Amino acid sequence: MALPKPYVSPSQLNMYLRCPAQYKYRYIDNIILPPRSAITKGRAVHKGQEHNYRQKVETFQDLKLSEIQEVAAAEFETFAEETEWEKDEDPGKAKDEAISLTTLYHTEVSPQVQPVLVEEAVSVPLDSGYSIYGFIDVLDNQGYIRDTKTTARTPSASEADKSLQLTAYSLAYRELMGIPEKGVILDYLVQTKTPKVVSLKAKRTKRDIKRFLAIVGGVVEAINNDIFYPNPGNFMCNEKNCGYWKLCHADF
Ligand code: SF4
Repeated sequence: MALPKPYVSPSQLNMYLRCPAQYKYRYIDNIILPPRSAITKGRAVHKGQEHNYRQKVETFQDLKLSEIQEVAAAEFETFAEETEWEKDEDPGKAKDEAISLTTLYHTEVSPQVQPVLVEEAVSVPLDSGYSIYGFIDVLDNQGYIRDTKTTARTPSASEADKSLQLTAYSLAYRELMGIPEKGVILDYLVQTKTPKVVSLKAKRTKRDIKRFLAIVGGVVEAINNDIFYPNPGNFMCNEKNCGYWKLCHADF
């Protein structure tokens, strides 16, 4: 699918809502920061999952764990070079954690999922001229839209209810298929002392989608009017977690 222009992706939308100044630095000024360790770990896990599911659409079989671990390890190595590691972070330990989460996903989640679509690009044109654009991780044969997250903390039970990303994919699914999906699922891989899976299931209604479109409309209007202000109240606003900290404190 050709990239629609202009577009807003679920992650862009979340970034604008979290901090409009951060959105401006990333998507208007195009200042791309090196990934942090959590992103690199998440990419590795995601790549292993994608490698397995792409073939499972046809074969209905999961690949051997060792192959998935190798794919995840290779992805980790590729991105480790460009990752911005904190002084107290050990890339070797981070790689072990990525493999451990990959193993967890492959042994506990993959056997329950028969994918129909994997990494499917979706685009929904809006009246504003923008499109909503993104990739559905997995659509399973039960009609569930699934997405995977890696995290250090156990997520709250409402995360799947609140996820704008899943609402965006629900909207895209309905545009594509002409019927509602069965539901949405967030599979969290939690990097606690003993790693665990937390799968959260939710539904989307027409009301949720209407509300989502109102949020997107507001964000697009603000972007078109160059409304970009700092939001120091957001959870990422500290020197460690926001790579734009110095720039932002010089500008505002
Ligand atoms: S430092 Fe805080 S307010 Fe500034 S861009 Fe980063 S998150 Fe936003």
